[in-house]
Amino acid sequence: MRYVSTRGGMPPQPFCDILLEGLAPDGGLTIPESYPRIDRATLAAWRALDYRGIAFEVLSRFIDDIPAGTLRTLVDRTYTAAAFGADEITPIRTFEPGLHLLQLSNGPTLAFKDIAMQLLGTLFEHVLAARGETLNILGATSGDTGSAAEYAMRGRRGIRVFMLSPHGKMSPFQTAQMYSLQDPNIHNLAVRGVFDDCQDIVKAVSGDLAFKARQRIGTVNSINWARLVAQVVYYFKAYFAVTRSEDEEVSFAVPSGNFGNICAGHVAREMGLPIRRLVLATNENDVLDEFFRTGVYRPRRGAEVHHTSSPSMDISKASNFERYVYDVVGRDPGRVRALWRQVETDGHFDLSGAGDFAPVRASGFVSGASTHADRLRTIRDVAERFGYVVDTHTADGIKVAQEHREAGVPMVCLETALAAKFEDTIREALGRPPARPAAYADLESLPRRFEVLDADVAAVKRYIETHA
Ligand SMILES: *Cc1c(COP(=O)(O)O)cnc(C)c1O
Repeated sequence: MRYVSTRGGMPPQPFCDILLEGLAPDGGLTIPESYPRIDRATLAAWRALDYRGIAFEVLSRFIDDIPAGTLRTLVDRTYTAAAFGADEITPIRTFEPGLHLLQLSNGPTLAFKDIAMQLLGTLFEHVLAARGETLNILGATSGDTGSAAEYAMRGRRGIRVFMLSPHGKMSPFQTAQMYSLQDPNIHNLAVRGVFDDCQDIVKAVSGDLAFKARQRIGTVNSINWARLVAQVVYYFKAYFAVTRSEDEEVSFAVPSGNFGNICAGHVAREMGLPIRRLVLATNENDVLDEFFRTGVYRPRRGAEVHHTSSPSMDISKASNFERYVYDVVGRDPGRVRALWRQVETDGHFDLSGAGDFAPVRASGFVSGASTHADRLRTIRDVAERFGYVVDTHTADGIKVAQEHREAGVPMVCLETALAAKFEDTIREALGRPPARPAAYADLESLPRRFEVLDADVAAVKRYIETHA
């Protein structure tokens, strides 16, 4: 299995060579030369496997430059009951016949990003050790991604994390979660400024190519292919959990932001998993809902982004979307280049023409959007009818899922975070705070380890130089 760029400017490369990279050198995203097809007999055989077994089978079809026995060990070491709260890793909770919740958020930071990030930690450590290299991961976070990255990389040999966050501007839970880490390889840099300042500093530091090479700077952003492929696994796991035979179809509803999670569903469907619909849910930031309704993709300007009560879906453009577009335009890199050039010149592109929109429809995608009022209503409704409190992002998914249910087709809603992380909105919806997993009871009173810095590129570089 080799990987190419969606923009056509990269010679085919094996998995381990793209693992540690961000964008392809031509500005595109890395993608397999073709998707492995899983036939019905193989699918039937996988039904008997546990999460780790399915993960190994799926991953080994995309990773052929790590010996199978080693890959199996890495998978077994990552997906443990100790790290994910249950041996099933991603349990299914049935709300009512035909409506299910896929619980993806029982990892260390209580959000689905742990599932991919924990594997990334294991893979990075393995590949770096094999090459005798080290890596300094630099990132900016307003909460979710940063904490998932820190919990995945803590204590790993050969890896240090420098994570910039806006001083005093994250939720108390997220601040406590990140800053309470005591591992010497994790550096929390609290920047006097806002999230955009943090992001600008990361861009400036990474843009200094000499510094970047000298300090071996890398990232763990959402376009990383290994993160995406790790997420393909739970679509298979959930499919087996809600069906009895491989003749049945299942639909999935996915709260979406950067299009990573649902793109993994698209890959599972391309591999032959009998997925009927991929229901894409957005909040008020509806750039993706607009595309699937109209065929027009129009990334928003920064000032157009709404700050919502499902903040991890507050995006202006969907960074993984280019992989999907590559597939629906017949894997033609010239066309992808032209479309993204058009975004730069005209601010949008349009695939509404019959020849273009037919493959979009055939890919199973449907969509919808949700508002703050919808979120509150859904959280209340699910709590009353099914006795379970969902978080704000998951509520967006469930709201849109209801609009696309079909008789006889199970609908699986992906739980992307636990309600405990969004106390304020849950209190607003239910008049009481959400329950918190026992292990997190006194999170806010744990000792903290962080460094306050000015929003200054030179200061951050100095910090990295003296701590790398
Ligand atoms: C990251 C995130 C999302 C969006 O996922 P994408 O893969 O970016 O589409 C949704 N919900 C939560 C809680 C998240 O952390």
